[in-house]
Amino acid sequence: MKVIVIGAGLSGLTAAWELHKGGHAVTVLEARDRVGGRTWSQRLDNGQVVERGGEYIFPVEFAMRRLAAELEVPILTHNVRYGRRTLHGRTITFAELKATSERVAQTHAAMVADGATAASLTDVFAQALGPDYAQDPVYRRTVTSVAADPTRVSAAATFGRPTRSVDRYIEDGGRLVDGNQSLTLEVARRLGDRVRLEHPITGLDQSATGVQAVLADGGRVDADIAVLSVPFPVLRTLELGFALTAEQQRALDHRFMGVAAKLGVPLGRVDGDNAVQSGDHTWWSWHSLSEDGETRIPALSCFAGGPDALDALGVTDGADGWVAALKALRPELEIAGEPLLSTWADDPWTQGSYSAPSLDWEPADADAFTRPCGRVVIAGEHTGLEQSMSGAVASGYRAVDALRELLNE
Ligand SMILES: Cc1cc2nc3c(=O)[nH]c(=O)nc-3n(C[C@H](O)[C@H](O)[C@H](O)COP(=O)(O)OP(=O)(O)OC[C@H]3O[C@@H](n4cnc5c(N)ncnc54)[C@H](O)[C@@H]3O)c2cc1C
Repeated sequence: MKVIVIGAGLSGLTAAWELHKGGHAVTVLEARDRVGGRTWSQRLDNGQVVERGGEYIFPVEFAMRRLAAELEVPILTHNVRYGRRTLHGRTITFAELKATSERVAQTHAAMVADGATAASLTDVFAQALGPDYAQDPVYRRTVTSVAADPTRVSAAATFGRPTRSVDRYIEDGGRLVDGNQSLTLEVARRLGDRVRLEHPITGLDQSATGVQAVLADGGRVDADIAVLSVPFPVLRTLELGFALTAEQQRALDHRFMGVAAKLGVPLGRVDGDNAVQSGDHTWWSWHSLSEDGETRIPALSCFAGGPDALDALGVTDGADGWVAALKALRPELEIAGEPLLSTWADDPWTQGSYSAPSLDWEPADADAFTRPCGRVVIAGEHTGLEQSMSGAVASGYRAVDALRELLNE
């Protein structure tokens, strides 16, 4: 069968790779001049690789680990206290992390039992931890990662994720050798000229017998079926010559796009604390372990999540505001070179960081993309509960499963 895959991020390339291995004729149409989408690795002036997008791969993120293992792209450990960052000079113990997480989960369960099914993350933490909840390290870590206004984010969807244990127990995350983009680069290398860069689409049509992608330059690409794996805000702007299923439309209506930014900072020397969370805003910084596992790399990575943090750091005006905030938080830093700022809200092919479930999220939304819409199946982080690299890979596998009947497999 001829298949068009639109978008060469982790979701699209996972689907393309599986379809290619299944003997189908795959064409990947990608808007940018590179593959990887929201995984984008770059070297700082001092040679250290930093991630401009997706960074942490947790031990329980099996989809990402399966793909990396198959393609023989090694995963290194960050060895960073991800869940126990230093906040106001203190680091919580594992016992405290577990106790707080369980208290929050139990409070949420009790709230749901009382009928509060549309509670926000903020509602649940405030109820569980009392008036000082906003300075709690578990709350600050959670809302930093969510990268959206926590009063608008569904607690049920957040706590219902299959990898919930990441919040409660898992300390460390991994990263790929030479940067996380190396996985999509490896898939693209194997697919060769089946991947067409700088081929943005503006629309997609389908009939009873086939699909047709409409390119920005007016050209058209025909195939039997399509995998549409573009970010959620782009999906909304495409001219689709067909209606999504009611379940899919509802699931998309129950999501909104978050915003996040990253800062990679080359260092002259590495100080001791590997994970420090800001007490003022939802951002944090870390030093990863070196490739040989012996030292920390001379680079600091920072992640800021949510509109308030981005405003406070002034990222739309460049890196200076964030660098100043960083120096105030970590006066010991010896910055040696040009920091690398990455913003995603102004990126036309993403228009934000990753999606978040809104308060009207429903459990049925989680199944909406397990079936195709005619000859088109939709993939991407926004089609599942995990807004991660692994969630994107899982959506690529799910998309191929959803197509099995059409593929006569
Ligand atoms: C700052 C930041 C930090 C993150 N941190 C983490 C983390 O630590 N751990 C983690 O697991 N995840 C993290 N994520 C999330 C993770 O990176 C994403 O969930 C995942 O990469 C999304 O993959 P995707 O395939 O769904 O979308 P994308 O990677 O965005 O791929 C979609 C592709 O579609 C292309 N496209 C868009 N429009 C068109 C068009 N019209 N025509 C053709 N192509 C088009 C895009 O260029 C892109 O290549 C982070 C993301 C960001 C932004």
